[in-house]
Parts: sequence; structure tokens; C-alpha cells
Amino acid sequence: MIEVSNLIKQYGKDIAVNDISFTVNEGEILGFLGPNGAGKSTTMNIITGYIAPTSGTVKICGYDIIDEPQKAKSKIGYLPEIPPLYVNMTVDEYLDFVCDIKKISKGDKKDVLEKIKDIVKISHVSNKIIKNLSKGYKQRVGIAQALIGNPEILILDEPTVGLDPKEIIEIRDFIKTLGKNHTVILSSHILSEISAVCDRVLILNKGVIVAQDTTENLSENLSKNHKMNISVKGDKENIKTALENEESIVSVIQQGENEKDTYQFIVEASENCDIREVIFDNAIKNNYKILGMNPVEMSLEDIFLKVTDIEDNSIKENTENEENDEGNSEGEGNE
Ligand code: ADP
Ligand code: MG
Repeated sequence: MIEVSNLIKQYGKDIAVNDISFTVNEGEILGFLGPNGAGKSTTMNIITGYIAPTSGTVKICGYDIIDEPQKAKSKIGYLPEIPPLYVNMTVDEYLDFVCDIKKISKGDKKDVLEKIKDIVKISHVSNKIIKNLSKGYKQRVGIAQALIGNPEILILDEPTVGLDPKEIIEIRDFIKTLGKNHTVILSSHILSEISAVCDRVLILNKGVIVAQDTTENLSENLSKNHKMNISVKGDKENIKTALENEESIVSVIQQGENEKDTYQFIVEASENCDIREVIFDNAIKNNYKILGMNPVEMSLEDIFLKVTDIEDNSIKENTENEENDEGNSEGEGNE
């Protein structure tokens, strides 16, 4: 449904989006997750045809966004980071105006608007001036304008930013509802939001995709047999020291005592090793008993920190000999 290939966007010498490729399937809710300055808005602006890429292509239902912009754009409803609202108009005047831009026929207009206002629950503020609405309601009007023309694809750039918790939940809920009959791309720098709403997540950092998968798979692949919650019986200090002395184990944290002489530890091993075997051998060597072993699932937060950290480290390695430390705060001041 959406095919993005080798997208690059350069602003002068700075690369905002650095060779990213991905596809979005029909009916999917894809989350763009990344810190400020990661390139989320830039990517969305390119996909929706607002700005041109430096190179690379975007196809929307087979139509190239540059070669056949009208056909491609007619499939997309877009809520940009700053919604294009005319704040001195009433809600109805504004939505009417958007209908004209999107060439909705006069005869259809009333029906179309009634339906959309009903979906985003703004019928009761139809005659209010937009600037007098709360932020949450302004955002609903922004989503309403994206829905006009019945696009198959919805692209929502940080739709809950600046909203209060109640508004956030409401907006999230109807994004989920909209996801039932639309393909949605949603960006956020809030991890819990992405995991609450999206089927799949694409993590962006400094213009590159550092991970993409379903939320469950990401968690599974990155933490598989790597971090365990173990329950062991024996002398607490001896066990702790024995585990810590193991070369492939990077951290041992005691969780508590369950029964007498039975302790719980979170043990983490370096990558590329099966921690279960290491713990098993360690227990035999040091004469303690393993009563239980459970993998520790990583939260999306952990994964995010981990993949962005890997990325930062590899950047550091690449620039190790050049004495500069740019890249650690780059792009963070653009909120
Ligand atoms: P995000 O939406 O993830 O916060 P953006 O796509 O807005 O990130 O920005 C990515 C990078 O591109 C940032 O470093 C930002 O400063 C830069 N950038 C964005 N728009 C422009 C522009 N019009 N001119 C110059 N640099 C820009
Ligand atoms: Mg942005």
C-alpha cells in the first residue's frame, strides 16, 4: 500500500533522513518512534508529498508521489505536526472550506461532514470558533480535515502531543477505531503510545531505521535468552559472586528472598550467548540449585534505549579519531 525506497533528505550538509526503506500493508497501523529530530516529520512530509526527497521514491497504492501526485495524494489524509487550521473560522466554516479544496461535490458535503463530525465527536462544537476550542478539540478538527475525501491512508504526526491525559486516551481510542478501516502511520516520541496503538513499529534515530518489527517480535528478538529472572537455592553471597565471576555475565541483581535460602536474581549476559547454559554450568560448578528460570521481557522502553544506544556507539566508533563530539546533542533543540 505504501512503498518507501531509499529515501534521503538533505538540508544543506545535514542529512535529516538517511536512506530509509520500508513498506506499509493495507490495514496496518504502523508507528514511527524516535526522539526529537529523528526524521519522523520529514519522512511523513515526503510520503504525503509536502516536500520532495533529495533522492528515493514513495509509492502510494502504486502511484509515485512525484510522478502522479494527485492520484497518490487522493489516497492520503494527513495531520501534520502543526495542523493547518484557520483559527478564526468556525469548525463548520473550516471543514466546509477543506471540502472545497478536496473537491467534494456540494451535494455530498453535508452527508460527508455529518459523518466525520460524528466519528471524531465534534458535532456539538460545529459553530464554535476554532481558536476558542481546547487543544484536544483542535486536534479532533485536525483529524476531521484529514478524513475528508475518505482517504484509505491516514498519516498522523504526533497526534497527541500537548494534550492532557484524558484527551490523549480519547484520541488514541479513535485512532484505534480508525485503524479498523484505514491504513495508518502514526508518529510519536512516546513509547507507551506506540505500543498501545500500533501493530508494528519502526524506530528512527538520526535519520536511519534502527529497528522495525512487530512490538512483540522486537521484544522477543532482543531479549531472547539474554536476560533471566532466576530462582536459586544456596548461599546468597556465594551465588552472587559465582555469577559475577562468569565472563559472559554482565550484571547480577538480587531481587529478593522467597523462601528460606531461596533467592531471586536478574541475570544478564552479553549478547550472542545462551544465558541458560551459562547459569546451568555455573550452578553445577558452584554447587547451588536452580529452582526456576524465566526470560525477562524487554519493554519497548528498554528496546528503544538499546537500539538507539547501539546506533550512538557505532557513530562514536566511526568518529573516534576525529576530535569532535557532535552527534550527541544534534537535532535535540528543534522542538
Ligand atoms: P522529528 O519529526 O523526528 O522530530 P524532523 O523530521 O522534524 O524530526 O527533523 C529531522 C532533522 O532535520 C532535524 O535535525 C531537524 O533539525 C532537521 N530539519 C527539519 N526540517 C528542516 C528544515 N526545513 N531545514 C533544515 N533542517 C531541517
Ligand atoms: Mg516531528
